[in-house]
Amino acid sequence: MKLVVIGGGISGLAVAFRIRQRFEARGRPLELRVLEAAERVGGKIRTEVREGYRFEWGPNGFLDGKPETLDLCRDLGIEGALLPSSEEARKRYIFSCGALHRVPESPVSFFRSPLLTLRGRLRILKEVWAPTTPAGLDTSVAEFGRRRLGKEAVEKLLDPMVSGIFAGDPALMSLASCFPRIAEMEREHGSLVRAMLALQRQRKREYGGTEPGGGPAGPAGTLTSFAEGMEHLVRALEERLGRSLQKQCVVTSLVPDGGEAAKGYRVRFLHQGVEQEMSANAVVLAVPAYEAKRILKEMEPAVCGLLAGIPYAPVTVLGLGFARDEAPGPLDGFGFLVPYREGTPVLGSLWTSSIFPGRAPADCVFTRNMVGGWRNDWAVSEPEDDLERIVSDMLEKALGARGKVCFRSCVRHPRAIPLYFLGHARRLEAIEDRLARFPGVYLTGNAYRGIALNDCTREALRIARTVEEDLILGRDYEGEAAR
Ligand SMILES: Cc1cc2nc3c(=O)[nH]c(=O)nc-3n(C[C@H](O)[C@H](O)[C@H](O)COP(=O)(O)OP(=O)(O)OC[C@H]3O[C@@H](n4cnc5c(N)ncnc54)[C@H](O)[C@@H]3O)c2cc1C
Repeated sequence: MKLVVIGGGISGLAVAFRIRQRFEARGRPLELRVLEAAERVGGKIRTEVREGYRFEWGPNGFLDGKPETLDLCRDLGIEGALLPSSEEARKRYIFSCGALHRVPESPVSFFRSPLLTLRGRLRILKEVWAPTTPAGLDTSVAEFGRRRLGKEAVEKLLDPMVSGIFAGDPALMSLASCFPRIAEMEREHGSLVRAMLALQRQRKREYGGTEPGGGPAGPAGTLTSFAEGMEHLVRALEERLGRSLQKQCVVTSLVPDGGEAAKGYRVRFLHQGVEQEMSANAVVLAVPAYEAKRILKEMEPAVCGLLAGIPYAPVTVLGLGFARDEAPGPLDGFGFLVPYREGTPVLGSLWTSSIFPGRAPADCVFTRNMVGGWRNDWAVSEPEDDLERIVSDMLEKALGARGKVCFRSCVRHPRAIPLYFLGHARRLEAIEDRLARFPGVYLTGNAYRGIALNDCTREALRIARTVEEDLILGRDYEGEAAR
């Protein structure tokens, strides 16, 4: 059995690792290739180490409240290198109306918090009587929020949450695709307030009142990384996949062998400018949607329009370091998010050196600032000096003083994060329908069923299970074995 995985980001590496595990467990031979376009693997995951700072270009960590990434670390034997975020990082802030407000961790502290006006807080009490989303209707995050929680909660709470995760616009994003858990809470309990109270009771029962994570209003679990940064996970996968990995291979197209999918596929790619080809019984595409579109154009033109309809938000990440006594403030927490209505292109500021130890030299502090997003796309390509000024202005407004920057690093992601707009679920169904005509072709990556690392590693397991069913346990394998 010859299987090619296209793309060596976390989705491609994890799916390759999981598929190989399943073949090994069943004692089946597998010729595995992972083709990665760049000179390095990891995709969005990259840790830059310079002048004593450890700067994450992409993800800062993953939440340990879900098992898939933790299980992957355990299976890779790197569980012992995991680094949970500090207790201090539980303190999260939102910048609103000229000041930082701590994100409340319990319903009681929520109703005491001045983050929303008294009217805004009272409006939330009415949530229990708000009409629920009609079954099967795809509703936007903003519409859902206005109906259930009121306009102020959308502008000050949901909007920064959407910016912080997707860098997107809540008026365009599908609630069910972006936040399936929230949609489920409404479906199960008829109200978010009731669902959160039920969750709080359950967590109290399970953890005796000392819940992990940010409480009912916060994320489920503790943000977790490695002492060496997130690249540790990529290195471990790279080591385990060994010679199966081929870098600098830009896949250009995938076509059925001899025009018949039943015969397998031919994967065409450019390696250092030279065109090459490889045959495969099965292929997993783990590249961004716009790349999958290019690769599938010849084989299934109808799927291209569907893939092209998944837009990406641009984000620039600006790392700024300060000598501790010249920092703009104490930076005692996780950092803050900024609602769009505040009129800045800064989406948020993460106080990296307070979240994980070892991210800055001993007498320095380090911030990672996200700029741009779908609604402020102009900002991502601003010159670095201008970006530093924009971020420094924001930090000064939030923290009260202007810091003196002593370290700067900037990474631009023109297509950082896929956005699940209204209609995303139907689009996925249509893509799957089209691809069903090509047995042995699988699609994964963050463009489809979740953008968090936990989503990518969960999908890797799901695809590996499907591959096992189709190619080891199913008839396809018998056919291949006979050939
Ligand atoms: C700034 C930022 C911060 C984030 N923070 C977090 C966070 O804190 N926590 C979290 O859980 N998630 C976070 N995310 C999301 C998470 O990092 C991504 O969803 C995840 O890393 C995507 O992995 P992937 O493998 O699906 O895609 P990618 O990482 O994009 O990998 C795709 C790979 O395919 C390769 N490729 C592309 N075209 C071809 C081709 N033609 N041939 C061969 N190879 C090709 C690319 O070079 C790349 O290596 C963040 C993302 C960004 C951008």
